[in-house]
Amino acid sequence: MEEEMDFPKVIEFQTHNLCNANCIICPYREIHDIKGFMHADLFERILTEVGDRKILLIPYLNNEPFLDPSYCEKLKMIQERCSNCKIEVSTNLSHLDEKT
Ligand code: SF4
Repeated sequence: MEEEMDFPKVIEFQTHNLCNANCIICPYREIHDIKGFMHADLFERILTEVGDRKILLIPYLNNEPFLDPSYCEKLKMIQERCSNCKIEVSTNLSHLDEKT
């Protein structure tokens, strides 16, 4: 019970830290010297630890999430493995088409 109370109600993480924009409101350009992707094992671990909890997952941060070529696949994995979660995504739309 105590462990459950300590578990976050909201988890925000990014699968990479790339962005193709330069919004004046954003600290992105000042805080990212090293560009890279989250290791698949860490992504797996997040999904496993969240499991069937009813929380909010926000899988982006200071980045454009759809620059990850496997982002749609990752969203599907989150939906399947964390089916009680709400998912929030924000994008600058640059990598979305009608199909996506
Ligand atoms: S698109 Fe998002 S992450 Fe990229 S610079 Fe703009 S606010 Fe920042």
